[in-house]
Parts: sequence; C-alpha cells; structure tokens
Amino acid sequence: MSTFPPRCFTCGKIVGNNLEKFLEEKKKGTQQDMILDNLRYSRMCCRRMFISYNPRIEEKLLFYNIKPTSRAESTPPLVKGGK
Ligand SMILES: [Zn+2]
Repeated sequence: MSTFPPRCFTCGKIVGNNLEKFLEEKKKGTQQDMILDNLRYSRMCCRRMFISYNPRIEEKLLFYNIKPTSRAESTPPLVKGGK
C-alpha cells in the first residue's frame, strides 16, 4: 500500500509509476533535480510530488495508535455488551 498518488494533483500527469525509480536513485546519492530531469518531469507541479513525498508517513502515520495508553484502560468502555 502506498500513499503516493498515481497522478500529479495539478496537471494530472502520471507520476506513480516512477516513484520507485526516484527513491532508488535518491538512495544512491543522485541529486533530486538530476533524477527528475532524467525522468522527464519538467513542470514544478510534478516535481514537487516527488520532492515532498515522505515514505516515513506510511510507517508512522498510517499505523498510529489512536488508543490512549494507560488511562483509557482503567476507564470503563462507553458501550457495554458486544461480545
Ligand atoms: Zn504536474
């Protein structure tokens, strides 16, 4: 599952298929602007899709535990029953 959108929000150009290439090149240490030039994204609206993407969002935000920790366990549930 990925939160990266398949298309650019502004112009609608397909960006989702190049995310893996972008991240691989970025890992190798290539400059972001060089990668995006090679992938032929010239518009700033498309380039910001890659530059502003943070892969950590998927591991942190999507699996964020909304249940509070110790205090909630001591309070009774609002709805009783329900097996
Ligand atoms: Zn665009």
